[in-house]
Amino acid sequence: MTMNDAFDVMIRTLTDPEFAAIDRLSDLNAVGHRVVHGGGQFSNAVIIDENIMTSIRSSCSLAPLHNPYNLAGIERMKLLLPAVPQVAVFDTAFHQTMPSHAYTYALPHEVCEKEQVRRYGFHGTNHEYVALRAATWLKRPLGELKMISCHLGNGASLCAIDHGRSIDTSMGMTPLEGLIMGTRPGDVDPGAILHLMRSAALNFEQMDRMLNKESGLKGISGKNDMRDILAGAEQGDVRCTRAISAFCYRIRKYIGAYVAALGGLDVLIFTAGIGANSSEIRAGICQGLDLFGINLSRDRNLHNAEQGDVLDVSAPAAIVRILVIPADEERMIARKTLHALCRVRTVEETRMLRSKPVPISVSAHHVHLSQYDFERLFGQGKTMTPRSDLSQPNQFACQETVNLIGPKGRVNRVRILGPSRKESQVEISRTEEFQLGIDAPVRESGDLAGTPGITVEGETGRIELEKGVICAKRHIHMPPEDALAFGLRNRDVVRVGIRGERGLIFGDVVIRIDPNFRLDMHIDTDEANAAEISVGASGFIDSIQHRCYM
Ligand code: ADP
Repeated sequence: MTMNDAFDVMIRTLTDPEFAAIDRLSDLNAVGHRVVHGGGQFSNAVIIDENIMTSIRSSCSLAPLHNPYNLAGIERMKLLLPAVPQVAVFDTAFHQTMPSHAYTYALPHEVCEKEQVRRYGFHGTNHEYVALRAATWLKRPLGELKMISCHLGNGASLCAIDHGRSIDTSMGMTPLEGLIMGTRPGDVDPGAILHLMRSAALNFEQMDRMLNKESGLKGISGKNDMRDILAGAEQGDVRCTRAISAFCYRIRKYIGAYVAALGGLDVLIFTAGIGANSSEIRAGICQGLDLFGINLSRDRNLHNAEQGDVLDVSAPAAIVRILVIPADEERMIARKTLHALCRVRTVEETRMLRSKPVPISVSAHHVHLSQYDFERLFGQGKTMTPRSDLSQPNQFACQETVNLIGPKGRVNRVRILGPSRKESQVEISRTEEFQLGIDAPVRESGDLAGTPGITVEGETGRIELEKGVICAKRHIHMPPEDALAFGLRNRDVVRVGIRGERGLIFGDVVIRIDPNFRLDMHIDTDEANAAEISVGASGFIDSIQHRCYM
């Protein structure tokens, strides 16, 4: 069957009265396309125009087995539906939040830059879908959960999701890295490849074929369908048994690594063909992970989840919820397609967003302290001494300052902001992180789980905070009247433009609405310096990056 034949079958099926999906093709309002590789350029779904086509084309060398076919699909649908918007939803987009220490290969820097060699990750659409589904099902905000998603199909990958963001994933620059898959080996010593090319005289095409089509479960057992391998093992085929053990062991090893990367774990998710349907493989993977609070319920795990369902297979008292969630990339692609369409700015939306400038406050490093910690630093019974008011009502800068001490260095005279809080929190810039030798995550204020600690020195004492150091996430404080005028809701994420000689657009700016707030955007000194922002500066809301539906 050719690609065009496949499209004809799809269209006949969609318009077949038996399925009653649509009457005619022209009923469609938009088409969402899965595009495997978006390189480093796309962190969101986008409406496809000629520039986007060129970008996808330029990523073909990174995914030669996928992107050319994705492009052909887009071309075909454009021909069939020329007036309908086509949207590209990238497998790599969700992983664009990975920090550089997770996506960097230790290869020569110049070569990596020139050839775009870095880790990108795949299956992002489904990893994001199951993470959202899990949070909704658990009735807990996505922004407070540490999750590992195990997408186990023909292709397989794990993803470490911290507060809704992918921070690491097992596939790399291509879908070859990581887990053992149907026909791909996952992690292999690159020396073994060099050895085979030299000793067995395998050329590039032969090696490409071996790595993509003849390795993995198929390489070990001779079969690539997990159902056949499980049946083979049942009948005593030792190669099948070995394939299953190696498959489960690799995943278990990655789970351990990702618990370390996340600094804990709340939810472990199994998804895709094998993850959602094989209780035996799930049991094999979870074996011996009790240490991490991962305890399967033998009885619950005997069941599998139906499409659209979520199944909790953890033991009732287990610390980590183990959820089985069937993959639903199509639903997520449809959702992302709608989001991309909503992001198209209408004249009215642009008018609303630009209706008012947003004043910008630059927050230098500062510390919030609990009364308990304040007294430990400044003496029993002492309270904070207000020095000047801050832009937000009832908040003040104190006369008191502290010194911050990290493993590499110190930052002196850091202002305390009042009033006192429930938990102490230290907000520093990236530059100061380097100075102190502390790797702090980008977080919203108050979201301190799993953050690094620091030594704080006051007038009368020194304390060790076990956690609380963050690099503050950009945000705008907004009263409801302004939110209404801008057409924004609490926790929407926007892009904010700064005009000037070094003007730039800041993405990932969270909207926080409260009747007690005054309109004000908060950024740190590094960010302000990058845009050469001085006192009294203001920005404008350029566009909505994504809406919050929680
Ligand atoms: P793809 O990665 O191609 O989208 P799927 O997510 O559909 O693949 O997963 C396909 C894999 O799921 C195959 O290896 C298949 O054997 C496996 N699978 C499907 N059902 C079961 C089952 N009941 N038990 C074990 N493996 C299963």
